[in-house]
Amino acid sequence: MSTNQPDHEQILVAGRPAGLRWRRNVRARRVALRVSPLDGEIIITLPPRASRHAGLTLLRAHENWVADRLAALPKPSHWRSGGTVPINNIAHRIIHDPLWRGAARISLRPEPSITLGGGAEFLTRRLRDALIARAREQFTAKATAKAILINRRIAGLRIKDTTSRWGSCAPDGTLMFSWRLIMAPDYVQDYVIGHEVAHLREMNHSPAFWALTERLTPHRDAATQWLATHGPALLRIGA
Ligand SMILES: [Zn+2]
Repeated sequence: MSTNQPDHEQILVAGRPAGLRWRRNVRARRVALRVSPLDGEIIITLPPRASRHAGLTLLRAHENWVADRLAALPKPSHWRSGGTVPINNIAHRIIHDPLWRGAARISLRPEPSITLGGGAEFLTRRLRDALIARAREQFTAKATAKAILINRRIAGLRIKDTTSRWGSCAPDGTLMFSWRLIMAPDYVQDYVIGHEVAHLREMNHSPAFWALTERLTPHRDAATQWLATHGPALLRIGA
């Protein structure tokens, strides 16, 4: 049936080109439509027996809604020398110095900056690697300190690129955080880390879990609000 049809196609939405991605989901009950905050693609999920025609009908019925969502997406922000990247929510100037031989250097003076060496064609990769390294170092220190407060130890800490969650805690005590959190304010990192560390004792979202989280971080409301507002933009930085 649909096996020979491409998963991706270009379509027009309110007169403008847009990417459309088809998904089949055996557990889906109905045709679903959404716009991915990561790449700005329209995603239509079809239950096993639904036709693409049904998907397109849903899309056309909500064309204005989709157009609004696409228009509201943060612009993808590409890294370049002379531009900036937020680290702990502070804009750092990106300085490419081909003669710089050391590891990436992050500095707050004379102005917040990150200096990277190597070929210009590797700038994006090096910058991303530097932010991942900084995230690992900073989040490990914070998570370790918080875990001590509740007599737990973190089994390990992984830094990943995720689109659906900012952090997680595996049953074996390994914590995972999105490297993109390094771009967020301190208090946002503090909350996400406090939340996941609390899971080292409470593997659920019970009242006991939230009480524990409260002991580990006072920033739940502000951080949740910040992520709801600015999270989508974080996902589109350096893409
Ligand atoms: Zn949780």
